[in-house]
Amino acid sequence: MADFCFPFKTPPSSDWKGSRGFGASRNKGRRKHGGCDLIKPAYEQIYAVSDGVLVHEETLFYLGTYYVTYQHGPYLVRYGEILKGSTNSARRGTTVKKGQPICKVGLMNGFKASGPRGHMLHLEMYSKGNLHTALRSNKGPYLRRSDIMDPGPHLDQWVNNLP
Ligand SMILES: [Zn+2]
Repeated sequence: MADFCFPFKTPPSSDWKGSRGFGASRNKGRRKHGGCDLIKPAYEQIYAVSDGVLVHEETLFYLGTYYVTYQHGPYLVRYGEILKGSTNSARRGTTVKKGQPICKVGLMNGFKASGPRGHMLHLEMYSKGNLHTALRSNKGPYLRRSDIMDPGPHLDQWVNNLP
């Protein structure tokens, strides 16, 4: 089993449960939250949670923020709501080591770096790490691929192992 660490040098001030956790209601109950939100200021450095390989290059995600997806051992990890241009244009197939800087927390359109909503790393996990197809789907409740999983218990472990 691959060795994992937390994606930030320090834990966020708020936890990744409840409204910030997996399965929380979104869009007035029309869908469920597909990941965990790690609240951090925009521009904060994000680190690879394990050795891995880039699967999805920097792609527009939400309100001017982007995402990348890495395969880390048996999982896919989507690093969402990241800063445009913060991946140094890493290409598919690029390998990383655990704890290597890979991207930064994104700045949402129209918000200041520590704006009223707070910026974050939106982290998603999928159990079929070898399956590199699109993560989005039309199927509820997550509107994500069916192998989506709760990153919360993993983050609870990884936070004991900071990069
Ligand atoms: Zn989120």
